[in-house]
Amino acid sequence: MTRYAGRKAVITGGTHGIGLAIVRALLDGGAEVLLTGRNEENIEKARADLGPSVQVVRSDAASLADIDALGRQVGDRFGTFDALFVNHGYARMELSTDVTDSSYDRTFDVNTKGAFFTVQRLAPLLRTGGSVVFTSSVADTGGTPGLILYSGSKAALWSFAQGFAAELLPRGIRVNAVSPGFIRTPSMGVDATAAEKEAFSQLGDEITPMKRHGTPEEVATAALFLAFDATFTTGVKLPVDGGLGQRLDPPGQ
Ligand code: NAP
Repeated sequence: MTRYAGRKAVITGGTHGIGLAIVRALLDGGAEVLLTGRNEENIEKARADLGPSVQVVRSDAASLADIDALGRQVGDRFGTFDALFVNHGYARMELSTDVTDSSYDRTFDVNTKGAFFTVQRLAPLLRTGGSVVFTSSVADTGGTPGLILYSGSKAALWSFAQGFAAELLPRGIRVNAVSPGFIRTPSMGVDATAAEKEAFSQLGDEITPMKRHGTPEEVATAALFLAFDATFTTGVKLPVDGGLGQRLDPPGQ
């Protein structure tokens, strides 16, 4: 396919899960792609699976030095580029009583500070008419026991998306977010024990109005729509959550 031929895209956290689905959809459409990840094993696997035409960069989103280096690599590879997907994320299931200084910092350094500086440092390389798509979460509003840190970090991320949307308007750059609900990915979006993940997974099927998990490909479809097709849309958050965040009452209730 040639839908994205000539387009250049950067995806943070593209080695597996939702990010990898975005990468694959872009490659299927003929785009040039540079993606990041942190874990070496996952990076090697992505390199082997995706082949030499795709640049896979080890870059820790929590490190400003790594983000600066990423900016240089993107500049060297692409010069300017069309779409930035800020997708990396970290979630540890933890009640507020168990939160520590270090778990607080890890969550906010990766999800919030890392996302902010990724856009601050890479936006100058986005061409006029380009776009940014953040991956937020249905948990960026409301309260869920065990996800208090994650929810706070994603709430800030959504606020950043709106702020960048306003600031990048003069350059014709649109900034939007996808907001996934329960999505079937290798990590299920959380750092948790197998038993916790199983319970989390069952909860997802129960409370999601569509009674199932979404797929990474369903989130990728929404992210690509915002990046390339939604040319009169900026500053929005598109839920991809099977109705979870929409307060839908079943018929007869
Ligand atoms: P995933 O499979 O765990 O993928 C997360 C990606 O982020 C991986 O490529 C991971 O790379 C990368 N990453 C994590 N920490 C990083 C860091 N410090 N620096 C650079 N890259 C880092 O997760 P996912 O479920 O696809 O989630 C993707 C995004 O969707 C996240 O922002 C998540 O919060 C959000 N989300 C997911 C769900 C869900 O149900 N799955 C729901 C709502 C929102 P390595 O592991 O190789 O380091």
